[in-house]
Amino acid sequence: MKKLKLPALVYLIFFFMNTTTSSAAGLAKISYTVSFPEAQAHYVDVEMNITGLAQPSLEVKMPVWAPGSYLVREFAKNIESLSANTKGKEITALKINKNTWKINTAGLTSVTIKYKVYAFELSVRTSFIDVSHAFLSSTGIFLFPKGMLAQPSTITIKPYKDWNKVSTSLEMVNGDVFTRTAPNYDILYDSPLEIGTQDVFDFDVDGTHYEVAMYGGGNYDKERLKVDMAKIIREEAAVYAENPNKHYTFIVHNKQRNGGGLEHLSSTVLGASRDQYGNERGYHGFLGLVAHEHFHLWNVKRLRPIALGPFDYDNENYTTNLWIAEGFTAYYQNMILRYAGLSTPEGYLGDMASDINTVENQPGTKVQPLSESSFDAWIKSYRPNENSYNTGISYYDKGAVIGMLLDLEIINNSNGKYSLNDVMKYMYNTYYKTKKRGYTDAEFKAGFEKFAGKNLDDFYAKYINGLAAIKYDKYLGYAGYKLTDDLAASNDPTLGVFFNQRNIITTVVRGGAGWVDGLNVNDQITNIDDTPVTDLNAVIKGKKVGDKIVVTVSRDGQSFKIPVTLKRNDNVNYKITEVPNATPQQLAVRKKWLRL
Ligand SMILES: [Zn+2]
Repeated sequence: MKKLKLPALVYLIFFFMNTTTSSAAGLAKISYTVSFPEAQAHYVDVEMNITGLAQPSLEVKMPVWAPGSYLVREFAKNIESLSANTKGKEITALKINKNTWKINTAGLTSVTIKYKVYAFELSVRTSFIDVSHAFLSSTGIFLFPKGMLAQPSTITIKPYKDWNKVSTSLEMVNGDVFTRTAPNYDILYDSPLEIGTQDVFDFDVDGTHYEVAMYGGGNYDKERLKVDMAKIIREEAAVYAENPNKHYTFIVHNKQRNGGGLEHLSSTVLGASRDQYGNERGYHGFLGLVAHEHFHLWNVKRLRPIALGPFDYDNENYTTNLWIAEGFTAYYQNMILRYAGLSTPEGYLGDMASDINTVENQPGTKVQPLSESSFDAWIKSYRPNENSYNTGISYYDKGAVIGMLLDLEIINNSNGKYSLNDVMKYMYNTYYKTKKRGYTDAEFKAGFEKFAGKNLDDFYAKYINGLAAIKYDKYLGYAGYKLTDDLAASNDPTLGVFFNQRNIITTVVRGGAGWVDGLNVNDQITNIDDTPVTDLNAVIKGKKVGDKIVVTVSRDGQSFKIPVTLKRNDNVNYKITEVPNATPQQLAVRKKWLRL
């Protein structure tokens, strides 16, 4: 295992960011020891030592959320048996709110706090422990002393049985794999740890060392991954003209079915299905996830909305700009694969058409503006319910579409001189590197305008803060493309509901037949026109638009007959196709956009 080290620049910036939020913490020194005497029962034992104290009382707190995942998760709910002592003598730790304990430290110079954390949720933003490994997502494991977020800390890991590896971006102390240090809490909370017997491989890209820690096995080909991941990394660094990390860690959790990822400053956690590397679609999906999470090391971890850092670990951190932080990252995840030659122009256009279809088919796109989708992520996107499809739009999907529109606008209006890449690089240099702070909404807009060479008030009013129908053909037309709807001529009937394998309705689509005639979520459809139904899709397909049918549903243990008039399925299935006789200007924009 190679020594992992964060670049000095990152330390400096986070130190700078935190000095304003933290009271002078004096000479307090903080260390943690984590051990796993009950790994089989999914517990980690944490001992936190603070020395050099000189204050009458101390509050220790557990973050309520993990940056990058915009939901209050109440990590303190997994803490039990918290106790405090000083030199072995028990002292009172009084719980004063959901995530805070107060300790009387008058006259004391040191305190030891012991607690257990239950960890049985293997996701990219939560912790999991069993006998095979420990994945510690730091925001749910380590308490912080209030007012000391700028303080460094060390972590000593006492591994369970045969665990012999630690994969994290936290630096080793004295070359010891099991002793790590964080220069401050923002770095600690941005550095998950994978501890166990994971399969680790590494490679270098233009002076940056990459380590990939594979947990759970899988049919991956390490040599192919090294080559393709390096291509992605190189293209991403080229967008910003630098790679700020000297070391970077990919932690990959391979399960029977898994996916998703969470970005960090100098590492990321990815979910994958063990068998997905063996087929081209699955492999392409994994590379897309790599491209997405790695792109975040610039876009959101460094070039960030002003609300996202220094973080408030006790509360929601609101921003209207997740369509840039996440949506543009989703846009680039496809574009980078195209730049790297890992997807064809046709494949790329197919990926973009898929995003457009998702946006256009979702009724919520006419209800929730993009900026609001971002702001309300905490209570809506991350807390979806059966009606979310009707009331909201994903800032990933629509944000990616907006990224495409702006990229095309900038390329076209600058006659191919600039692209969205120039905006990203300019914003990174201006706000992360020079001003050393996040950007405001108005500042990013000004960045677009600088390279597009035009005012974007109208664009923002319509597509970012408003609900106007997007004029796709205007923007795609710059590159000699247009949308073609495969379903334009179809006249297929639909019930206007989503249902599961047991014909239980999971969503009633706004404005559809089921919505108008009163089908409910949780209704189980048992009969159509008094005939018992198993293959509901086939039955509806055999009908015509305007047919009046009787749907028998089981609702809360009672049977109801509900007359429904079938409506036309208004879903679109767009493809991005070439316009005939594209002009040289259009072909030039296309060439620049798709790197032809
Ligand atoms: Zn993301």
